[in-house]
Amino acid sequence: MTDAVSELYSDTYAIAQDAADPLRDMRSQFLIPQHVGADQAYFVGNSLGLQPRGARAHVEEVLDKWAHEAVEGHFTGQAQWMPYHELVRESLARLVGAKPLEVVAMNTLTANLHFMMVSFYRPTRERPAILVEAGAFPSDRYAVESQIRFHGFDPATDLIEVQPDRDDGTTSMEAIERAIATHGARLALVLWPGVQYRTGQAFDLPRIVKIAHAHGAVCGFDLAHAVGNLELALHDSGVDFAVWCHYKYVNSGPGAVAGCFVHERHAHSDRPRFAGWWGHEQNTRFRMGPHFVPTPGAEGWQLSNPPILGMAPLRASLELFDAAGMPALRAKSLRLTGYLEALIRERLDGTLQIVTPADPAQRGCQLSLRVIGGRGLTGRDAGRALFDDLATRGVLGDWREPDVIRISPTPLYNTHADVLRFVRAVEAWRDG
Ligand SMILES: *Cc1c(COP(=O)(O)O)cnc(C)c1O
Repeated sequence: MTDAVSELYSDTYAIAQDAADPLRDMRSQFLIPQHVGADQAYFVGNSLGLQPRGARAHVEEVLDKWAHEAVEGHFTGQAQWMPYHELVRESLARLVGAKPLEVVAMNTLTANLHFMMVSFYRPTRERPAILVEAGAFPSDRYAVESQIRFHGFDPATDLIEVQPDRDDGTTSMEAIERAIATHGARLALVLWPGVQYRTGQAFDLPRIVKIAHAHGAVCGFDLAHAVGNLELALHDSGVDFAVWCHYKYVNSGPGAVAGCFVHERHAHSDRPRFAGWWGHEQNTRFRMGPHFVPTPGAEGWQLSNPPILGMAPLRASLELFDAAGMPALRAKSLRLTGYLEALIRERLDGTLQIVTPADPAQRGCQLSLRVIGGRGLTGRDAGRALFDDLATRGVLGDWREPDVIRISPTPLYNTHADVLRFVRAVEAWRDG
């Protein structure tokens, strides 16, 4: 064991792993930020993914088209703006395991969450409640709370938060099951994350859908930290809707246009929705009639003609996901994060505590790390000190209050050498 681990802790090993990586050429498709003349070890794809080299060309294509064709750009030449969202539809469907009819790129994440709740959160006096995780991402919590109030109900009784039940702050399937069973008759909606943003815990999504539906609730997912990270099978999961952003693991730039899934069974839904002209049936949209007829599927929830400049980098990014394929990316991700975990256990035992579940099926690429000691510091002080020190060494993670450093080796552009560099940087801080 000791021999095997010391082998892991060597440049030779890391370099050999990277050389044997079938996805090794993907990294050169990205612009890696520099730190004193060398590549950063960038582990913040969970927050803002790196820029694909192809993004600039797609953005410039739009700018050029605008310059030369102006309004005609909507209907002429390559990558016409009118059906521009269709250019990403098939790739997006592959990325999340959906049918093309079930996905659309539009708006931003929190906006899509609201628009989905307009249709899929239909509280009644008997069933007014929304069940979420305790410690949900603030925007999600604000959104559900404000929806409950908007319908005249009271978050104090109708927002049900499932508390983490394990010592490490993660939540067992049993706790979720118990909460849904306890409140089942009052639940209008179960909203759950694919991957918890602070702990990195990944959930058994089909099972959550099954339990929610068995108790008569609608089910939705926020996949902000799951999309481009895990292999998803949204159609088969049976979930009613899902929302996500594209600036994290999907590398489409700050504030990128977001994604939305509506299950095929709702493709012709007559549920209430907030409508806009871009959701109108395509063939008759420009007759400009007064009556809204929705386009079947997720596209029927569009409001506006989309921001073409904002959508352009998403095309570049999805080309890379198509080239690599999620199964290969996940396979590499398991190796890379497994390598990080093994090195932390071997080299940083008294320094870092891994919060994220050890079971690879219960996590994506991210490990959330609590700093338990080093340099005579403890708790939050140790965490902040290490975090700041890493940045001066060109090793970028991110900090989540109150005491977690998130390190997310992404399979598109991170390497085993990056991971080794992180571990050595922590050792240098601790021993320095
Ligand atoms: C990143 C993230 C958001 C951010 O919302 P925006 O509307 O894109 O600003 C919301 N919810 C979760 C769970 C996130 O991880």
